[in-house]
Amino acid sequence: MKVGFEMKRKTKLIHGGISSDPHTGAVSVPIYQVSTYKQEGVGGHKGFEYSRTGNPTRQALEELIKDIEGGTAGFAFGSGMAAITAVMMLFNKGDHVIMTDDVYGGTFRVMSKVLNRFGIESTFVDTSNLKNIHSEIRENTKALYLETPTNPLLKISDIEAASSLAKENGLLTIVDNTFSTPYWQNPIELGADIVLHSATKYIGGHSDVVAGLVVVNTEKLAQDLHFVQNSTGGVLGPQDSWLLMRGIKTLGIRMEETEENTAAIVNFLTQHPSVKKVFYPGLENHPNHEIAKKQARGFGGMVSFDVGSGEKADHLLSKIHYFTLAESLGAVESLISVPARMTHASIPAERRAELGITEGLVRISVGLEDVEDLIEDLRKALE
Ligand SMILES: *Cc1c(COP(=O)(O)O)cnc(C)c1O
Repeated sequence: MKVGFEMKRKTKLIHGGISSDPHTGAVSVPIYQVSTYKQEGVGGHKGFEYSRTGNPTRQALEELIKDIEGGTAGFAFGSGMAAITAVMMLFNKGDHVIMTDDVYGGTFRVMSKVLNRFGIESTFVDTSNLKNIHSEIRENTKALYLETPTNPLLKISDIEAASSLAKENGLLTIVDNTFSTPYWQNPIELGADIVLHSATKYIGGHSDVVAGLVVVNTEKLAQDLHFVQNSTGGVLGPQDSWLLMRGIKTLGIRMEETEENTAAIVNFLTQHPSVKKVFYPGLENHPNHEIAKKQARGFGGMVSFDVGSGEKADHLLSKIHYFTLAESLGAVESLISVPARMTHASIPAERRAELGITEGLVRISVGLEDVEDLIEDLRKALE
C-alpha cells in the first residue's frame, strides 16, 4: 500500500503489503486456491503463470513481510527449514559459512548432515564475541549466519557490528530473526543482507501453521532467491499464506502483551530459590543486555532457566498445568520444553554440554494467558 507518509509499525502490520482485494473491496486478501492461470496468447498472462512461480495470496504475504522487515523482496516457504535451505542454496560447492554456535537444532542438522554433503562447509562459533567471527574467516567464507537471541540460551550477537565486520570481508550477513520478530528487531536496518523467520512461531502465532519467510535487501539477491525458490519449489500454499497474514495483523499487540507477561515471570523466576539461573536478554546481568537494548525494541517472550537436574525438570513438567509440554514457541498458549531432550536432541550430547544446554535447563515460551495464572502455575510446580 502506498500512502504519502511513512506508516508506523502497528499500522504497517495491518496496511502494509497488499492488504485488500481491489476487485471486490474485500478487506482481506482472497485465498487463491489455484495452480495455473489462463493466458490470452502464448506468454500473455497477468503476472501469474503457475503457482510455484507465483500465487497472488502468497505474493500478498511476501509483499507484507518485505514491508515490515524493510527490504527489497520477500519470499514465503513451506517451513522455516525450507527457507533456511533455500537461502543456503544461494551458495556453491566449496563455499564456507560461519554460524552462531547455539543455533536452532534443525539448522545445525541441515548444515552438518545435509548441506555438507553438497560441499557447503560451516563452522559454528559463539558469534556474541566478534573476535570468534574474525578468526574463522577463510578464503572461501561467503557468509555470516547469526541467530539472535539464540535458542535456548538467549545469547545476543551484535548485528550491526557483526554485519559491518562481514561487509569488510566481503561476506553476506544472514539473520534468523524468529525470536525477536520484525516487530521488535529489523536486522536489515542494522546492516544485514538477508533476514529469515520460522513463521511457524510468533508470526503465525496460533500454533496452526508451519511456514518460513525470507526478506533480502538487494535486487540481485531477490532475483537469485526467486530463482532458487522456483527451481527447488519449497513454496508456501495459499491457505497457509493467508493464515500468516491474519497472524501478522495482531503481531504488534501480541508482542507488547507477551513482553509484559514475560517481564513479570522473569521477575518471579529470578527470586525463586529453586531456580539456579535465568537466561533472559532483558535482565541487566545478561552479558549482552546493552546490545539487546540497542538493537531491539523488546526482549521477547522466550526465557530459559536452570532447575539443577533432569529429575527436577521432570518434576516441574509433571506438575505444570497451563504451560503445554511441546516443541515450538511463539504462540498464544504458553509452552514449556526441556531443550536437551527435545528441540536440541539432534545435537550430540558432548556438543550440548560444551554449549551449556544442561539436563536441568527448562525453556518457556510465554503466551497470552493472564500472567497471575502463569506465575501461580510455576510457583506450584517449583515447590
Ligand atoms: C522453529 C525454528 C526454525 C525452523 O523452522 P520450522 O518452521 O520449524 O521449519 C528455525 N529457526 C528458529 C530460531 C526456530 O525457532
